[in-house]
Amino acid sequence: MSLNQHIIERDLKHVWHPCTQMKDHETLPLVPIKRGQGVWLEDFEGNRYIDAVSSWWVNLFGHANPRINSAIRNQIEQLEHVILAGFTHEPVIELSERLVEIAPAGLERCFYADNGSSAIEVALKMSYHYWRNSGRPRKKNFVNLSNSYHGETLGALALGDVSLYKDTYQPLLMEVITAPSPDAFTREPGESWEEVALRRFEEMERILAEQHEEICAVVVEPLVQCAGGMRMYDPIYLSRLRDACNRYGVHLIADEIAVGFGRTGTLFACEQAGISPDFLCLSKGLTAGYLPLSAVLTTDHIYQAFYDDYETLRAFLHSHSYTGNPIGCAVALETLNIFRDENVIAHNRELAQCMADSVAHLADHPHVGEIRQHGMILAIELVKDKANRTPFPWQERRGLRVYQHALTRESLLRPLGNVLYFMPPYVITPEQIRHLAQVASEGIELAVKD
Ligand SMILES: *Cc1c(COP(=O)(O)O)cnc(C)c1O
Repeated sequence: MSLNQHIIERDLKHVWHPCTQMKDHETLPLVPIKRGQGVWLEDFEGNRYIDAVSSWWVNLFGHANPRINSAIRNQIEQLEHVILAGFTHEPVIELSERLVEIAPAGLERCFYADNGSSAIEVALKMSYHYWRNSGRPRKKNFVNLSNSYHGETLGALALGDVSLYKDTYQPLLMEVITAPSPDAFTREPGESWEEVALRRFEEMERILAEQHEEICAVVVEPLVQCAGGMRMYDPIYLSRLRDACNRYGVHLIADEIAVGFGRTGTLFACEQAGISPDFLCLSKGLTAGYLPLSAVLTTDHIYQAFYDDYETLRAFLHSHSYTGNPIGCAVALETLNIFRDENVIAHNRELAQCMADSVAHLADHPHVGEIRQHGMILAIELVKDKANRTPFPWQERRGLRVYQHALTRESLLRPLGNVLYFMPPYVITPEQIRHLAQVASEGIELAVKD
């Protein structure tokens, strides 16, 4: 039996994989990975794959990054973990100082959890609790955008709007108010990104005008709805939303779990709209793809609504066992050091241009409905009919053919349905980008065949 095969058989006896119909593995082999180096993942027989999806959007500076490896080694010699209630440690203090320094203005308090979904839960609870502490207990609803994604725990799932993940659990979920997404893919012929965003905003304005007395917060993924198929929108929507939230006394929660840390071309996507949210949720790139850690940043004004004598029971009594884990914080700090030392954002502009150029020839393809991009996220949406953008039926799983083809060509491309995308680590080279584009072109030909 081959080395890979041996690992696969052991795996399938006991491991239950995430987001997977396990029966698929009767025909679709698992890929066992032995080591990673830079953009490369390598299996047990020496086959290599360019990690074009950054291992589910988390990796920033490559696998086995020497700086981050060494930060972990140093931290574990000092302190691996300590309870963060009543106790503290330097990595969490310094990380909080640094996050406040780089985050949009006004975000001055950092609360920690250990994954993106938990960060969303924290922001929801804090927002509701803020209004309760402020004598506004009627505020208990949340507004989301259609096609949004905020994670898989019940609160985060309720807030999302991707039916594939949500519908099954609907009876368990709290009700939310859904406003139409400013998604530019759904614009009318001749309409610009900005125009469709402004048109969609009218409905958000109406919801806020009519129901703000009962609304705690609006939750959005700034600029890119990643899990919803890398759908993108114009920053004007965010500036209008910030303004409306101010006018109606409603919090704005920015879920930058996927788009934060340079993904959209700026350190945080909110910067492109010149806004500060009331809550900023961070995870994924926060630890450059190394460790589970998340942070919720909020304002001192919100913090003060919880600050009182113990007996008033206004405190935010939320915790996770690994809240503020020192190793995670040390990795996050080194991640921020790399941003500071290596001119990452400027370098990414060149990579982003290279990604755009490498797939430009696909724009006229009869089954490419759109190529769209915000910085280091580039998506190619396959359609059955280009003229009216009719999608391929999801049951045909055409994106899967691209995935399978890419594996034979040293590439990990994992489409979302019919949406093929590049979201690579920032250490990718132009030559590797051009290889991915070539593989994507080949994959598209296979995917659109009958
Ligand atoms: C991944 C993701 C989450 C959930 O994070 P997990 O760490 O997977 O729980 C939330 N929001 C967005 C926008 C994400 O992309």
